[in-house]
Amino acid sequence: MSDYEAVIGLEVHVHLATESKLFCACPNSFGDAPNTNVCEICAGMPGVLPSLNRKAVEYASRMALAVNAKINSHSRFARKNYFYPDMPKDYQISQFEEPLCEHGWLDITVAGKTKRIGITRIHMEDDAGKNIHPQGEKISLVDLNRAGTPLIEIVSEPDLSSAEEAVAYLKALHAMVVSLGISNGNMEEGSFRCDANVSIRPRGSKTLGTRTELKNLNSFRHVQKAIEYEISRQSDVLEDGDKVVQETRLYDAVRNITLTMRSKEDTQDYRYFPDPDLTPVDISEEELARWKATQPELPQARLARFMEEWKLPQADAALLSADPCLATLFERAARIYPEARKIANLMIGPLLRQLNEQGLDSAELKLSPEALAELAKIIDSGLISAKIGADIFPELMQGNIMPEDYVNSRGLAQVSDSAAIEAAVKKVVEANPAEVEAYRGGKTKLISFFVGQVMRETRGKANPAVVNEILTRLLEN
Ligand code: ADP
Ligand code: MG
Ligand code: ZN
Repeated sequence: MSDYEAVIGLEVHVHLATESKLFCACPNSFGDAPNTNVCEICAGMPGVLPSLNRKAVEYASRMALAVNAKINSHSRFARKNYFYPDMPKDYQISQFEEPLCEHGWLDITVAGKTKRIGITRIHMEDDAGKNIHPQGEKISLVDLNRAGTPLIEIVSEPDLSSAEEAVAYLKALHAMVVSLGISNGNMEEGSFRCDANVSIRPRGSKTLGTRTELKNLNSFRHVQKAIEYEISRQSDVLEDGDKVVQETRLYDAVRNITLTMRSKEDTQDYRYFPDPDLTPVDISEEELARWKATQPELPQARLARFMEEWKLPQADAALLSADPCLATLFERAARIYPEARKIANLMIGPLLRQLNEQGLDSAELKLSPEALAELAKIIDSGLISAKIGADIFPELMQGNIMPEDYVNSRGLAQVSDSAAIEAAVKKVVEANPAEVEAYRGGKTKLISFFVGQVMRETRGKANPAVVNEILTRLLEN
């Protein structure tokens, strides 16, 4: 691979979380019974007139502001013509020659190096419906609930040079849309989708190689794997003296390969033309000023602030600031109990581990800032050990439980009473004569074995400092 370098550009589709669809009043919601959110307009009946959802323009513009893009005060919708059963109009309403936004950028950091990635354009468009192919039946069904829902497409410059950079860019965009509140960002439900354009060229060359477009990438990990696979596939093709074919390829996550899906259409195949049913989109100075003044804080700014205001280490600040739910929980808890690093440690340790294990999204978290703050506090005060603190996380995450009441009612409070601990230590020392002898013979590393045993004996409740002190005293005898 050293002879070639990769060139990658991403097209990202973001489903906007507006109440209604882009050109009609049907609800814009996911998971309803098929064809319940459909009217004449989104079903593509003849003779109907679309009217633009202004909220979608605001959301698209907020994204543009976040990536430093130029927002055109005047843009246009265009028809992108093609036939597919899930799109009864036979054209998608998109933007072509005069998109809403152009010339943006965002900075990514990979392995300590910061790089600026150009954003060519952001435009608005409507989504298609969905074809459903029931298993074992010789029919296909069409669900138009999604037809006409609002999307923005964010097109990057071919500025990315590796799968890691592509994922870092995608994660930065994802954190932005969620922070802005313009999308739920759910990748599995398709609210945040990415096509990756990949080519390779001789290292140092200035011209672009032939690209393939990868589809079906519905997680960050798939994006990473698919790009890595495609880069190595293309280098094999070139090394065999063959040519890369311009085409759309589908990622097969099970086999971790990409497969030819279809040859790629050229732009002229779509016969784009301005949509005669829609007036141009005009954005006034006042509107733009209002959106600018009310932009929520973005992850990058939040990261800097977490380091500055709460004195978090860079890595911790990055983890917590990238996720708006975690960021809010952290700050609220830190305001109640200002040992911010301890709160952050509880979140990055036991909390993230629990979310992972239970397969939960941070948005589903029911832990209140009050409970989190109180947990940090009672660990600090010595009421419970850090170990018990971590153990009770799953219960706390059910919500409606305050840690202090909980540990008191369950008898989980830490035992600092030396008589009780001494009794446990004696028991352990008597039960393990061989280890005691080894310890006294110089294997002092065995101390952790003894601590572990005492902890087991006290069901994790003994104060570790007291345990250590008593153990050393009794073992040295
Ligand atoms: P299309 O709809 O035909 O895919 P777009 O202009 O919407 O065209 O998107 C093209 C995407 O592909 C952009 O993100 C661009 O940066 C990227 N791209 C263009 N040429 C190359 C190339 N040779 N190698 C890798 N990426 C490319
Ligand atoms: Mg494309
Ligand atoms: Zn409708």
